[in-house]
Amino acid sequence: MMNLDEILAQAPKNNLIGNSIIITYAKLQRYEKILCSVSGGSDSDILVDLCQKYDNANKITYVFFDTGLEFNATKEHLAYLEQRYGIEIRRIRAIKPVPLCCKTYGQPFLSKQVSEWIERLQRHNFQWEDDPFDILIQRYPQCRAALRWWCNDFEQKSDGKESSFNIAYNQYLKEFMVANPPQFNISNKCCYYAKKLVAKRFKEQEKFDLNMYAVRKAEGGARKSAYKTCFSSNDSCDEFRPIFWYLADTKNVYETHYNIQNSKCYSEYGLKRTGCAGCPYSKNFEDELEAMQQHEPQLYTAVNNVFSDSYAYTKSYWDFVQKMRNNKNKGG
Ligand code: SF4
Repeated sequence: MMNLDEILAQAPKNNLIGNSIIITYAKLQRYEKILCSVSGGSDSDILVDLCQKYDNANKITYVFFDTGLEFNATKEHLAYLEQRYGIEIRRIRAIKPVPLCCKTYGQPFLSKQVSEWIERLQRHNFQWEDDPFDILIQRYPQCRAALRWWCNDFEQKSDGKESSFNIAYNQYLKEFMVANPPQFNISNKCCYYAKKLVAKRFKEQEKFDLNMYAVRKAEGGARKSAYKTCFSSNDSCDEFRPIFWYLADTKNVYETHYNIQNSKCYSEYGLKRTGCAGCPYSKNFEDELEAMQQHEPQLYTAVNNVFSDSYAYTKSYWDFVQKMRNNKNKGG
């Protein structure tokens, strides 16, 4: 193993990469029991490579949380990582895998937040009425927060943009749902039982003092906006995101310099992300399905069973939005 100076001397001449090497080194010195979540995705490939540069990498427990809807390519890739770096990646199974959650609670639709509000409304047997908040709250008195979302009751942001707490944040969603009330249960519980709760329990059981994972600010989406910096301190277990500041270009430099090989999901299937196969939250789920049909037909059949209603409802919503936009354009 090399010391820090040697690692830096051999690193690409790039400030973001240099900084991540120095800070990760410091964290590995300071913490004793470190959890590193491996997803099999391209960011996580860099994370593992970075961690394995140090001689105290043996403080790290690598873990893969198996949601129950994973690409075979991801599983194969975990085996490759284990072999390349001589590490063990522990596979932790979901408390309730995604297919079971979807059957029990409902299917995810559009986004985590939207699914949450719809789930609450469905629990109160909401009839998707287009009435004002003051009237609806009398009919559904226990459902205030979700009704505020439905009635666009939150103020717009200071820049004039729609608040993400309002249904109008998703253009024409309310109009669509009034005209086409969902005929199936919608829920975001699979994320909870297949991901969040599993990770939380595992962290508590094993008493880690640092949790490392691959999130980049530049990747966008709800996940990155939950964090402001690469580090957050916590009562039980601190959190460190070593490649938080990497840009797409930084990733390219790192991957080329250290000869990082990504899973077949990227190199053969042409996907831009990995994670739960066919998750309906993905804007590109149709492309993903097409790749799946070609490369992993059994998984294709499975996800179409699990998410069939959500796929159909999402496509119908997209068509609706397109029609509304066309009508608006025609009308000037
Ligand atoms: S990412 Fe999608 S499929 Fe996976 S657990 Fe979350 S909502 Fe369910």
